Amino acid sequence: MQDKGYSAEWLEKLKYNSNIVTVISKYLTLTRKGNTYWACCPFHHEKTPSFAVNEQGQFYHCFGCGVGGDVFRFIRNIEGVEFMEAVKILADMAGMEMPQISNNNEYFERKKKLDLLKEICRESAIYYNKQLNSNFGKKGLDYLLSRGVEKSTITKLGIGYSPNWNGLPKYLLSKGYNADDIIEAGVCARGEEGNLYDEMGVRVVFPVIDHTGKVVGFSGRAIESEKRAKYKNTRGTPIFNKSSNIYCINFLRKARLQKNYAILVEGQMDVVSLQQAGFQNAIATMGTAFNKNHVQTLSRFVDSVIVCFDGDSAGQKATAKSLEPLLDEGFDIKVLELPEKLDPDEYIKKYGAEAYQKLIDNALPVYEYEIKAEANKLNLNDRDNVSKFIDNALKVVVDIKKESEKQVYVDLIAKLSSVPRETIFRQLLTTKKAKPKDDNKSQVEEINVVKTKNYLAEQFVLASVLHKKPYVEGVEIDDFVNTNFKQVYKYLLENDFPIVAKLYDNFDVENNNDIMSLINFDFSKISNLKNEFDGCLNMLKLDKLIAKQNQINAQIQNCTNDEVKLALLKKASEISKEINEKKTLLNKVG
Ligand SMILES: [Zn+2]
Repeated sequence: MQDKGYSAEWLEKLKYNSNIVTVISKYLTLTRKGNTYWACCPFHHEKTPSFAVNEQGQFYHCFGCGVGGDVFRFIRNIEGVEFMEAVKILADMAGMEMPQISNNNEYFERKKKLDLLKEICRESAIYYNKQLNSNFGKKGLDYLLSRGVEKSTITKLGIGYSPNWNGLPKYLLSKGYNADDIIEAGVCARGEEGNLYDEMGVRVVFPVIDHTGKVVGFSGRAIESEKRAKYKNTRGTPIFNKSSNIYCINFLRKARLQKNYAILVEGQMDVVSLQQAGFQNAIATMGTAFNKNHVQTLSRFVDSVIVCFDGDSAGQKATAKSLEPLLDEGFDIKVLELPEKLDPDEYIKKYGAEAYQKLIDNALPVYEYEIKAEANKLNLNDRDNVSKFIDNALKVVVDIKKESEKQVYVDLIAKLSSVPRETIFRQLLTTKKAKPKDDNKSQVEEINVVKTKNYLAEQFVLASVLHKKPYVEGVEIDDFVNTNFKQVYKYLLENDFPIVAKLYDNFDVENNNDIMSLINFDFSKISNLKNEFDGCLNMLKLDKLIAKQNQINAQIQNCTNDEVKLALLKKASEISKEINEKKTLLNKVG
């Protein structure tokens, strides 16, 4: 475990005092069945429990969505906090005092710096908001009111106004911050004469708050028609990056408790308007395309997203392709299309929140949406168009990963085109994917599907070691061929066979099917564990010997020195004797 400023000893003690069953019980109702506690998963929606907590191994795992980890990971995910906050929460629960931390630690130096930059951003937000509510802010306030933004929304979102270029730097310097830090926080820059000026000068300013509730940057809107850009985001800083921050992500944590989805819209004003109408789960990117960084942040809070783009651009933008990062992470995506080419802001103003909620309730799954959009593009009464439609629609279907889901959409295409589903299904088999997806990945997947007898033997032997089964005996590192298994065994050996939860500290378990399969190994499917173990281990050792025998045979063939050859032959005969012994044993066991 990375100590991140705390001594490893202290963290171990905290972990020891934070029994995972006790901690998780504070959030979920656990039911005990045998050695495992069960609950409905808090990270995805389900009706029957597939979230398992293992007290002996001190880890949790959801068989539905695949999340898992130790007690620290649980707190980080359920509370949506970073490691440091999770430590604090657990220390509180365990009644342990936080230790003093030495200041010369590199991690803490950096953390202190980032905290300072966030503090400067927070002070700036306070300044802008004060200006908006003062005499200097009239222009900004008038603009917001004219756009229908209410005062309570201004307060809720902390919206502000910068009336000039030098007010903010003056304010921050008077608060005692130094110029370099102010610049690093991204709120000011240095002018030609060396003086500081406000990056958001003469703009209405929307603070961007991260998922932990800290102001990290701003988005400013110019309100007078000028030559400069209408929107401006804070430049990249150590705490802000426009391709990973999400506007209004801070409200999503609260919203999650009631709704397990986020509403993704295009513009910030759309978010403002939806938030005002009570949609706490409305978010937008900072004007960039949705990417992996966004998905990572989002996946802490929800596992489904309703994409709501403007009526006039939905067709082009809300395609499964453009939402690939979300689909790759297994997000459930629906598309909401607004009528009359309205944007969400206009729609809410015209029809109100209730009507919008109805659109949400009727949003279409992204693939269905795309297929219907293809149908709408063409007049299907014309037979020529029907085959064109089927071609286009199948290009959507071919990318779907789940076979059962593909069937659903083949049915839909059949219905829309009035062509028999068998015909469409046959065509699907010959439809090529639009772009060959990550070749490596599909190869790996294929290898995983074909699990050899050896793979299964290694898996069972190592799972027995990991879960400290009493019959385990005689395992050696060379018994494992699979690199993941080999690494795990090496780790266990070097760390004196620790509890299962430790694996989460040292391996990317959630993205490693081999390791995940060890942690969740189902021993109940095997009737005589000891026999099976002996048989498997014997088989692995036999394979090792056969490989060695082949190697020596090759050496013998290439050998020109008689003396060496004799020694090799002797070795070969020893090995073949050993092989025969093992084979006899294997027959007895098997
Ligand atoms: Zn789950």
